Amino acid sequence: MIILKSKEEIEHLWESNQIVAHILSDLRKMVQPGITTLELDVYAETKIRQQGGIPAFKGYRGFPATVCVSINEQVVHGIPGSRRLKEGDIVSLDLGVILKGFYGDAAITIPVGKISEEAARLLDVTEKALYKGIEQAKTGKRLYDISHAIQSWVEGNRFSVVREFVGHGVGRDLHEEPQIPNFGEPNRGVQLKRGMVLALEPMVNMGTWKVRVEPDGWTAVTADGRLSAHFEHTIAITEDGPYILTLAS
Ligand code: MG
Repeated sequence: MIILKSKEEIEHLWESNQIVAHILSDLRKMVQPGITTLELDVYAETKIRQQGGIPAFKGYRGFPATVCVSINEQVVHGIPGSRRLKEGDIVSLDLGVILKGFYGDAAITIPVGKISEEAARLLDVTEKALYKGIEQAKTGKRLYDISHAIQSWVEGNRFSVVREFVGHGVGRDLHEEPQIPNFGEPNRGVQLKRGMVLALEPMVNMGTWKVRVEPDGWTAVTADGRLSAHFEHTIAITEDGPYILTLAS
């Protein structure tokens, strides 16, 4: 687990996360019916390399692309390709960047054209779940206060949280300690401290929380085929509370 100390470390981490944030906001504008998921991936990889960064996911445990693109019932880790987005889809984009040895990581779920009311509610509840978690990320709190805030918000809205994938520490590596489940009892887990860098990432399903992995070995889908959404920010815990590194500024 990284504990930020020097100003230089903070600046590098900030830069890396800002690349992620800006590319995701570009991709949000590019998402429309007819675009292929590979076009989104090529754009992201090109932009990262132009800025001297490295795609963090490409080659990670053999993942073949820059962006994880997960459509509709796909939860996470979808592989970009020739599939075209169509009106009414929802698409989750998860992006990681390495710059000067520091990792940035964030995800958003985007509506493609006009989506159903229930899908729109899923996106809204999932994004708010992320912010419920972020609110808890401050000194004096414990790790599972984040988990509990996310789970109770999501379940209070009659959706479910995925158990199989979790948030994580991030900084010098893509996945550092601690693991941050999106479910759990409050008042447990490690004490949160200033300088910690965490990637919070609720994955929320409309139906069952259960998932399975497709035969490609990567794409996780909901067990019941219903929709899933995913929002992620990388944050640093400061003396003034949580600071979101992946908000584009
Ligand atoms: Mg992550």
